[in-house]
Amino acid sequence: MSNTENTLGWGLIGASTIARQYMIPAINAQPDSRVVAVMSRSAERARRYADDNGIARSYDAVEALLDDPEVNVVYISTTNERHKAETLAAARVGKHVLCEKPLALNLDDALEMVAACREAGVVMGTNHHLRNAVTHRTLRRLIKEGAIGQPLAARVFHAVYLPPHLQTWRIKDPATGAGVILDITVHDTDTLRFVLDDEVEEVTAFSTQQGLAEGGLEDAVMGVMRFRSGVLAQFHDAFTIKHAGTGFQIHGTEGSLLAEDVMTQQPIGRIYLRRDGQTEDVQLDPPEDLYTRAVRLFNRAVQGDGQPAATADDGARSLAVALAVLESTQTGRSIRVRYA
Ligand code: NDP
Repeated sequence: MSNTENTLGWGLIGASTIARQYMIPAINAQPDSRVVAVMSRSAERARRYADDNGIARSYDAVEALLDDPEVNVVYISTTNERHKAETLAAARVGKHVLCEKPLALNLDDALEMVAACREAGVVMGTNHHLRNAVTHRTLRRLIKEGAIGQPLAARVFHAVYLPPHLQTWRIKDPATGAGVILDITVHDTDTLRFVLDDEVEEVTAFSTQQGLAEGGLEDAVMGVMRFRSGVLAQFHDAFTIKHAGTGFQIHGTEGSLLAEDVMTQQPIGRIYLRRDGQTEDVQLDPPEDLYTRAVRLFNRAVQGDGQPAATADDGARSLAVALAVLESTQTGRSIRVRYA
């Protein structure tokens, strides 16, 4: 299991921004894991990235990284159209996979990835980081405890401004699985599924192009999801909104939970509980970095203890909903979600 005694070696497939900003520190923060290699299509970029981030070895091909005997786990954070082939290659040689969202560009590909990892006996997780936030975990617990009675409705505010350094493939290149729906709505879906412990049956949505995205891609979307329980959830996701802030609300028969600044990569945010005519601050446990917790749980799962924070199946189900949202925006119809 381990490359040196008790240490999992992680190999990065993709010399990405998310790996540099969040995942390398999260992996190296664990007592039981270390980033040992990185792969980029460009040997020169891989070498520079390795030097800049204290990574021992660099490769310019997935197979070469997978051949490295010290790599036990791969973290895939390439552009979205590459996730499938890279996951299948890792599963073939028995390496565990933490894959970025969206898992793939269509559901059949995602299901094939999930099945390949299951059949190979490797752990596969999806990097839906928001499940790791103390805020969202607290919302889920309070709902289960009945703090707001029966949930009736939810609202997700996730309209942000895409920072200039990320204004690349996400808004320009349809072949990469770009656009705000596969980038952000997929996170909303996973968070709603987690907080409500429920599954989406049907969606309807409108998208638009507000000046950032090109090539027919959407950079803003609003829509509604209908859950099995009957809960209706509205969502607003965008790359174009500078000053809105983010939020997440659940309204029930006995009260409302109002969370602010919670659709974010940082371990921040506040929750208010409003019921009986009063609004109280909800006390939160000390926050842990979202990505650090994701890696901690993933390492434990590799060692046979529990599951990743978001499983492979979660990744496929949340993708299925985002694809239904995309289809609704393209057809002008409500879409029932296909999961299999
Ligand atoms: P980046 O654009 O930083 O990197 C994506 C790929 O593009 C890299 O793997 C790299 O491939 C190539 N690339 C990066 N920089 C350059 C460059 N300067 N010149 C040429 N090619 C470059 O993407 P992100 O980090 O923003 O996103 C990567 C993945 O992670 C996506 O799937 C995204 O959806 C997901 N993501 C998830 C987040 C989360 O919180 N869960 C947050 C942000 C992203 P190569 O080196 O092989 O050429």
